[in-house]
Amino acid sequence: MNLRPKYSPPLRAGECTRTLPLFVASVVLALLTLSAVSANRLKDHVTWLADPAREGRQASTAGAAAAADYIAQQFKQIGCDVQMQDFGRMRRNVIGRIGTAPRYLLFGAHYDGQGPGMASASDNAAGVAVTIEIMNELKTKKLPVSLVAVAFDDEEQGLNGSRYYSDHPLYPLDDAQAAIIFDTMGRPFMDLSTWTMFVLGAEYSKDLSGVIQKRSRPGMLVAGTDLIGPRSDFAPFAVKHVPYLFFTHATHKDYHGPGDTADRVNYAKLAEDASFISLVSEDIARLPAQPKYLSEPVYPPGESTALENELQLVENERSDIPQGYRLMFDDFRARLKSDSSREVRRIATSVLLALATPRFSPFMLSFFIGPYYERENRRDLALAAYEEALKWASDAAERRDLEEKIQALR
Ligand SMILES: [Zn+2]
Repeated sequence: MNLRPKYSPPLRAGECTRTLPLFVASVVLALLTLSAVSANRLKDHVTWLADPAREGRQASTAGAAAAADYIAQQFKQIGCDVQMQDFGRMRRNVIGRIGTAPRYLLFGAHYDGQGPGMASASDNAAGVAVTIEIMNELKTKKLPVSLVAVAFDDEEQGLNGSRYYSDHPLYPLDDAQAAIIFDTMGRPFMDLSTWTMFVLGAEYSKDLSGVIQKRSRPGMLVAGTDLIGPRSDFAPFAVKHVPYLFFTHATHKDYHGPGDTADRVNYAKLAEDASFISLVSEDIARLPAQPKYLSEPVYPPGESTALENELQLVENERSDIPQGYRLMFDDFRARLKSDSSREVRRIATSVLLALATPRFSPFMLSFFIGPYYERENRRDLALAAYEEALKWASDAAERRDLEEKIQALR
């Protein structure tokens, strides 16, 4: 598991019509639509939510309000009972439920975005679309649990919607089989040609990690949540000890930027992965007993190798990596082989994430990666980390601090 061999994407609609007669193509498409999550429906949702008329769906704005109404309407259309949960300043979570069994499986994704000029399509119109369509897919499966979907408002400014919901759940959290959370989907991590779907949270439940191991497949990277920290709407559920899984394709060059538009989302891949998550969810729904939240996490066995492979993959594919990063990547690939500590895995992940989102990198480079190398007496690599941080640091005090550190190490 957790290996990353080449992965052949399914035929896209456009490819079908070029290579097959139209009739066969439409039958194939119809079958795909019957058997799994529909790429076209995902595209419709993302396109509507990411439309410039929504003005980036920033919390407390008319664009976010319109998005909430759209989601409520979609939930109703697929057969949900819908409730709006107001939590002040025009912010609303949208909750849909299908089924009457007290025990339920929860799906969640935030619908708010980055504001005017930002379509926020992959982050996170795509996660909302996946939530709607997985509900639609699972409702026909005669599951022993109900299905609850929550579209969270106001994630971007501090997980406010999911925090409010977990403090004021419409259905007791004790009855949740698991919370399955989506954020930032439909674009490949770091714009690589191969896809990685990150799956986090399985370390807190024996049953969920059992399902993930059983369904394990190429392109999936199963890792402990501590490697990325409480970065999305799964965190408030973790605090309440609800077993959870977090699915993401993670960041890309347009992450939190104006280029995160609906036309750049790969809907065939999104549908494929949503169909896969739907199977995983079905397994979780059918678990004979409610999963228990482990107080001590049990980390996935292949995590270190998976990280090492991811670093290698990025180094192989991205010829534009700055030299400083290349040195750190090489160093961490070696460390991951010989050192199985959480610290090495966490810092290795920080190096990867720093390169993936340069605008947010100074913090990780100055406070985690540089100091780590200083402690390890690797002045050369500490220097590389601070020099990379200086390229992106904008704050004057921060720059001065970095310049001093660089002087001292030279
Ligand atoms: Zn997000």
